[in-house]
Amino acid sequence: MQTKKPIHLLYVPTLFCNMSCSYCYLGELTNKKIDLSAVVETLQTSIEKFVSHGYIPYNLSFHGGEVTTLPTETLEKLFKITDSYYKTYAQDIASLGFSPTPIHIKTNLYNLKAHHKILKQYKVSISGSVDLPLSLHEKYRRDKQGNSTLDKIKENLRWLASYPHHAKISCVVTQEHLREIDAFIEDIKYIHDDIGLDMTKFNIMFSFDSIKNHEKFLQAIEGTEMLTHEEQVIFYKKIYQAFEGTVLDEGLRTHWFKEFTPDYCCSAVNCGNKFFLIESNGKVSSCPRGQSSESYSYGNILDDDIETIIANGWKRIERNENRLGIDSECMHCEFFPYCNLGCTFVRDETETNKSYTCQLQKEIYRDNPKKYPPYSEAAIKQHVKAYCYQNKIPMLEEMERYEQKEQTITPELYEKHNTLSQIISRDAILQSIYSQELFYLHVAKQNYTLSSQILKNKSEILFLNKQDPIYLYFHKDIFKINTLPRDEVNNYIHMMVLSGNSVSYGDEERHKQEHLFDYSIYKNACVSQSTLVGEYYCLDIHPIFELHQQLFREGIKHNLFFSTKTMREYHYSKHRKNAFYHIQAINLPFANIEFFWL
Ligand code: SF4
Ligand code: SF4
Ligand code: SF4
Repeated sequence: MQTKKPIHLLYVPTLFCNMSCSYCYLGELTNKKIDLSAVVETLQTSIEKFVSHGYIPYNLSFHGGEVTTLPTETLEKLFKITDSYYKTYAQDIASLGFSPTPIHIKTNLYNLKAHHKILKQYKVSISGSVDLPLSLHEKYRRDKQGNSTLDKIKENLRWLASYPHHAKISCVVTQEHLREIDAFIEDIKYIHDDIGLDMTKFNIMFSFDSIKNHEKFLQAIEGTEMLTHEEQVIFYKKIYQAFEGTVLDEGLRTHWFKEFTPDYCCSAVNCGNKFFLIESNGKVSSCPRGQSSESYSYGNILDDDIETIIANGWKRIERNENRLGIDSECMHCEFFPYCNLGCTFVRDETETNKSYTCQLQKEIYRDNPKKYPPYSEAAIKQHVKAYCYQNKIPMLEEMERYEQKEQTITPELYEKHNTLSQIISRDAILQSIYSQELFYLHVAKQNYTLSSQILKNKSEILFLNKQDPIYLYFHKDIFKINTLPRDEVNNYIHMMVLSGNSVSYGDEERHKQEHLFDYSIYKNACVSQSTLVGEYYCLDIHPIFELHQQLFREGIKHNLFFSTKTMREYHYSKHRKNAFYHIQAINLPFANIEFFWL
């Protein structure tokens, strides 16, 4: 046998109960006659089936109905099977990391006396359900004929106080319990001090209302409605105030509210992986809560293949979880990995998307920061995502939907290959366009180099005026760039003058320098008005400035560009072909210089 995983097993030998609590969630089922025919065999078969397939119950407990209504001989047979199982598989259980646990029963304590001998013999751990304050026990927990059970319960509590093995009691808290909180506190002390039962291991549970099934659960009876989140915290704090620093301090901190800590099934990512309840007719479900619902039913151990039952466990819970939502607060909760949204069944019944004890849990986590340090934002994100992959598939789409980016720039832009200087170095015509050798100005006996504003890292400022001539020197081969010899005659020098004022342009709505005027001089006209000096033609362009001088503004920088028709065509065709060039040469790349007009 290859060990596959440990499981927690509850066995319900009978649904019959000798009491008739007004708020019992089993209702009429507790009247169902005990059928002894299969009680023992079903337990034996279940254990054998699980174990033979590698599923090792590390905890085997008995739950009702009321187990003590079984004949002692039957109960003893159940204990014997369990005892033998624990002994046989002690090593396997230990190898899975679990300490040996005693046989455990959950009981209403009413009929305990009938089984004293075997309880002691098998060192059975006993968990008794009692209502506190005891006045509420008197009110709600009566026998089948409606008679009080209180005296007998007190008597059995006394017996339990002297019981040499593990024994504790638990109580479900509702609205009425909060109203009776002082009496509740007094009765804890009474049971501990006067009756003598060690209340260190006392367990508190909170009731929940079923919106889905009004008849089945507690709220049909006034006073048994569930507490709100805030009321649960008030209750918790009052209990703390009453017992902090007392002999019950340790119990208060470690046991009383343990049900709301990660030690319990409610905090599992998927409780169906581990928790199983089997009834004597073989029906398998999640737990006492899920026993009443088809959605938490995993099959029948007597009829179905064991692997199917095991798989149904996690699959049903996963399916149930996927039906349910998740509260947006949980997605960012620093305690999410301790909580995992609490009990699936309760969220299902109460139609809520977070644990019904959320605020209380947070109080507990915050009161024990060493044990439950808050998780970092990154860790929460990771955990929530992993949780949603298993349990909240529909949420994933929403989680992974990010705000649309406001801007996107491909990282390729920053690759060396795509830098403007590299693009130019691979393209002979661009090298000409960006060259500093094509144009220069001569003003007031001084030469001024004209170069591309995109590449230069310093800028010169010219001061032009009405009086001084302005000579443009352009290279004699300038009309050859990007042109066939026969088309040179159709080429021209293009001069652009811009103002320092900015205006909004085109679809981009970019604020750019305002265009004042353009001037184009075709090759032959240009050459005929110029003088060849070495490699350059010299052209007086002062008349052009004079003609438009009324456009120049005092104290504002203007911008002067020179190119040719075919250089411009090449630049814009490169824009279209190469996005990396386009984005880096978004401003005019032609030879330029800035000037003031005086
Ligand atoms: S003791 Fe438990 S099972 Fe029995 S009637 Fe009361 S609540 Fe129901
Ligand atoms: S349904 Fe709730 S109570 Fe039942 S096993 Fe799962 S978490 Fe626990
Ligand atoms: S503690 Fe509350 S908010 Fe945090 S995960 Fe649990 S239910 Fe959600």
